[in-house]
Amino acid sequence: MDDLVLIVDDDAGIKDSIYEFLTRSGYNSITASSAEEALELIKSKRVNVAITDIMLPGKDGLQLTDLMKQSHDIDVIVMTGYSGEYSYEEAINKGASDLIFKPFRFEELLLRLKKVLKNRQLVKDRDRVLSKLEKLAITDGLTKLYNLRHFYNQLEVEIGRSIRYGHSLALLLLDIDKFKMYNDAYGHLEGDKVLVRLSQIITSCLRTMDSAFRYGGEEFTVILPETKGEEAKNVANRIRTAVESERFLPEPDKVVTITISIGLTEYVKNEQLSTFIKRADQAMYNSKAKGRNRISSLFVVPASNQSNRNPNQPEITDHK
Ligand code: GH3
Ligand code: MG
Ligand code: MG
Repeated sequence: MDDLVLIVDDDAGIKDSIYEFLTRSGYNSITASSAEEALELIKSKRVNVAITDIMLPGKDGLQLTDLMKQSHDIDVIVMTGYSGEYSYEEAINKGASDLIFKPFRFEELLLRLKKVLKNRQLVKDRDRVLSKLEKLAITDGLTKLYNLRHFYNQLEVEIGRSIRYGHSLALLLLDIDKFKMYNDAYGHLEGDKVLVRLSQIITSCLRTMDSAFRYGGEEFTVILPETKGEEAKNVANRIRTAVESERFLPEPDKVVTITISIGLTEYVKNEQLSTFIKRADQAMYNSKAKGRNRISSLFVVPASNQSNRNPNQPEITDHK
């Protein structure tokens, strides 16, 4: 058994006999005579369950429960006499998992310990399933990139950060060139393989703070926090050239290359999320219109830098 039980009681007779009983029952235990000693012990030992007397010199068992629960993932069984000084509710409110009244038979303590350990396992399993579900809810099944729902949430978070801290924020929108032809020529399954590989390539070109999303069928987005236009162009170009140099083998002896068109833009303070995305989309379409396999940027020039330009007209730059 991997579980480690901590027995806390200033009455050496009780403490040692519980220790011996648990050892005989196959449990690893350690002991402490005070709350202070117990708090020191749990810093270095991975204790799963503590069984503590309520009456202790110094801090009492309920204070100990409170302190242990604040800093450790630990279950606590509180032992108390029939003094009536402490209620079941009080112990549970401090975070105790169970309360046992002295005097008790060791078999009863063992039953309660087993129940606590079983519950602990159930909670762990439930948490594992929940975090797996949470991950699934934001992941695209095919490419394992984040999905559209997460894109909107994440972009909103990054826009908030950008406004609060005055950071720049760049966005890329990527679309595979002539992908319909690839699917028509080699089949949907081969097309899917391209989507999967492309996602890996995009991810491999990103810095740790950047994140990539599957935006639609064969479209992807990349959020680049704290990134200005020029730096974003470098990232975009890294992706573009990496995709261009990848070799696909949809059929034996048939080597095919793929290209992507990228739109790039920077967030303008206080604009709507949809306006920001639309500009990236517009930039991507500019890349398509100019012949594909390229990066187009659309930056809104601040009013102070504009001489006789229409203030609502974004500046368009195009580069391969
Ligand atoms: P363009 O260069 O203008 O983007 O041309 P395109 O053919 O890529 O554009 P279009 O929007 O006409 O077609 C997109 C194609 O992407 C249609 C479909 O065959 C393919 N596609 C979209 N989603 C998926 C998918 O999940 N799997 C596969 N295999 N193909 C997809
Ligand atoms: Mg498309
Ligand atoms: Mg396309």
